[in-house]
Amino acid sequence: MSNLRGAYVDLAVIRENVKVLHDLAKNSEVMAVVKADAYGHGLIPVAKAARQGGASWLGTALLEEAILLRKSGDKGRILTWLGYPQDKWQECIDLDIDVSVSSIDIASEVIAAAKKIGKTAKVHIKVDTGLGRNGVMPQDLADLTKVLEEATAIGLVEVIAVWTHFALADAPSSPTIVKQLEVLDESFKFVQSRGFKNLMKHAANSAATLTAPHTHFDLVRPGIAVYGITPGGEVGKASQYGLAPAMSLKATATLVKEVPAGHGISYGAEYVTTTDTKIALIPLGYADGIPRIAGNKGPVVAQGKKFKVAGRVCMDQFVIDIGQLDFSTGDEVVLFGDPAKNEPDVEEWAQASQSIGYEIVTRLGPRVPRIYLNEI
Ligand SMILES: *Cc1c(COP(=O)(O)O)cnc(C)c1O
Repeated sequence: MSNLRGAYVDLAVIRENVKVLHDLAKNSEVMAVVKADAYGHGLIPVAKAARQGGASWLGTALLEEAILLRKSGDKGRILTWLGYPQDKWQECIDLDIDVSVSSIDIASEVIAAAKKIGKTAKVHIKVDTGLGRNGVMPQDLADLTKVLEEATAIGLVEVIAVWTHFALADAPSSPTIVKQLEVLDESFKFVQSRGFKNLMKHAANSAATLTAPHTHFDLVRPGIAVYGITPGGEVGKASQYGLAPAMSLKATATLVKEVPAGHGISYGAEYVTTTDTKIALIPLGYADGIPRIAGNKGPVVAQGKKFKVAGRVCMDQFVIDIGQLDFSTGDEVVLFGDPAKNEPDVEEWAQASQSIGYEIVTRLGPRVPRIYLNEI
């Protein structure tokens, strides 16, 4: 039985992608990044599959994502990096979740939380080596380190790592990578010089994991590659690296009918039929995360043939003009999936939407059920 619509997530593919990434970064640990509900694929099932594929770490942006993971029964290392002052620091420390610190304000919150519950907080010092986003500026690192030194001395903190994030890792030839690595190296040596032992260093996101082995260090942090999607830019196709897309977005036509030539299709009649033809109504719309900007552009495969969205994407539905295709109400279409199976690449939707694959998968709404294949 097919569903009205569904994002089919193949967990065997997640396991295999993590394995491929680990093979690429043989001497490093792998942290599968599962923020934003595992890039729209579903946090808990993906996390489980990533562990089975060899991820010794999981990474999340929000503290509550990390807490959900731990409460799901995950027993491995987890790092979370986007907390705010009143955040759930106590709960994270209590659940043995590693936290990231980019400022004295946050360090103070973490230390106070550790003191309150009488446990040691595992801290990764994030340095802004050039991204201009999160992370402590290099000139403020000494002051932050001092605060952490004092807390370490009384057992409230254990500094685990010095880490950073790249600004332009989808462009491996960019000189900014060299510059960021220099700053990371100096920061790392500085923290080491303050007496911290067994520090880890980590920097690589998907693009750097795939293309820049000299950035792998102790740990790589791929996100989008885990899902078999390219980070874009100079990186090229995910399939070049042996990665396959885990998600296929499919829907069942709710209506197929004949319309005459010259018939406007969907709001605003931005598409007009040129011949007598058949149209199919596809029950996915912008409320489900289908970008409205992809009207007249987004690719859709029906019976192995590729069509485009005809006219505007509506809230709950859009239309395709299928000509004389042998296709009926109740038949299935594929919006994106595995190009190796003649399904459109999520990248085609990204291009049709002036966006990136990341946004296409993470924006899929809660009305689209995630259906898991090959769960073990
Ligand atoms: C999202 C994120 C990643 C993963 O990035 P990808 O480009 O999806 O591989 C790694 N590290 C940090 C800090 C992130 O925020």
